[in-house]
Amino acid sequence: MTTSDGLLSVGDALERLLAEFRPLESEVIHADLALGRVLAKAIVALIDLPPFANSSMDGYAVRAADVAAASAEAPVTLTVTADIPAGARPPAIALAPGSAARIMTGAPLPPGVDAVIPIEATDDARSSAGAPPPAKVRILNPVALGANVRLPGEDVRAGVEVLPAGHVVRPAEMAMLASLGRNEVAVIRKPRVAILSTGDELVEIAEPLAPGKIRDSNSYALAALVQTYGGTPIRVGIAPDRVAAVRERLGAALAQSADLILSSAGVSVGAFDVVKTVVQSEGSLDFWRVRMRPGKPLAFGQVRGVPFLGLPGNPVSAMVTFEIFARPAILKMSGRSSLAKPQVPARLLEEVSSDGRESYLRAVVQREGAVYTARLTGGQGSNLITSLTRANALVIVPAGVTRVRAGETLMAWMLHWPEQVF
Ligand code: AMP
Ligand code: MG
Repeated sequence: MTTSDGLLSVGDALERLLAEFRPLESEVIHADLALGRVLAKAIVALIDLPPFANSSMDGYAVRAADVAAASAEAPVTLTVTADIPAGARPPAIALAPGSAARIMTGAPLPPGVDAVIPIEATDDARSSAGAPPPAKVRILNPVALGANVRLPGEDVRAGVEVLPAGHVVRPAEMAMLASLGRNEVAVIRKPRVAILSTGDELVEIAEPLAPGKIRDSNSYALAALVQTYGGTPIRVGIAPDRVAAVRERLGAALAQSADLILSSAGVSVGAFDVVKTVVQSEGSLDFWRVRMRPGKPLAFGQVRGVPFLGLPGNPVSAMVTFEIFARPAILKMSGRSSLAKPQVPARLLEEVSSDGRESYLRAVVQREGAVYTARLTGGQGSNLITSLTRANALVIVPAGVTRVRAGETLMAWMLHWPEQVF
């Protein structure tokens, strides 16, 4: 649906775009490479966790009934008949009544044991490393049945699904995979995203600036964004504003098996905007004018069946439209189901204005007690890279709103949280 001015709303453009993407196929990788990846298959436990009954404390394994009457004034004395360090084989012989086994955290419990007395509740002054256990130990407290005992399967039971397909691997999932001995795991493969810069004015990062030239910053920014959201960036370089050059570079993107081709610039209404022409001849193109600021012109289509997204050339527009459109497409291909950007309500510290298009203003959002506040990073020109280097958020002025006063609250997309490391 287009708005009265003939422009697509951001929401409608996003819906049309996302309809063209599906999660990619799976691949099997080593668990240590799985951080941030999406599980393609459920993880089912083949063993119990913990795998055996063990102690949660350094202390003495006992029969709770033996020490029911123990107190500091009238300690119960037990004979120490075993010494069980972590890593020991589970003892085969049951603990005899009236005796105790010195046991360390994580060590297997002998049969017959139903509680562990922490060392602090005994007269065994914590002995130096390697010292043998005493012949007898005096117990100063009674202990509840099952105290300080970790039962097999209390965390995970063999046979249960511990992680469903679609679950994202975070550090905690790494711990689970390692505990279960899953050193190989099926995940959705990473999307390969080709990045093409277009423009006669562009030179590579290390080249000197001849008059009239600027360095290609978009391919660096876009490659970093692709990486941030879990894709593999493939920079295919700079194409001057000529049909043959753009066609040749798009061919290079296809040769690298891209799942998505991103270009920047050359999709506007300028006299040398040739990208549209090439995409139309090699595939198809929908040119969208989206009711947003920055980044009104956006091209979406396909080149020989590979989705193509033509972003605006101005650095801020390219990065903001990436966040809005390319980011969720990459996340969807990666198998993620949550595509939303984290956002918070932020109270404006200054008045902001807009021309009525949905506007993404660069801002510093900070937590002040229970609320977040937002201050713009200065000039909002879409060529001003500093407006983004100084920002940690995009404050969104909804479509149709032209002025929002200081003290009012708008939603802010968090690019980075104030507490984040970088
Ligand atoms: P265009 O969309 O081609 O009209 O470009 C819009 C603006 O973005 C112009 O000022 C371009 O010089 C600038 N621009 C285009 N591509 C890049 C790029 N890769 N890096 C930095 N600026 C660019
Ligand atoms: Mg241009």
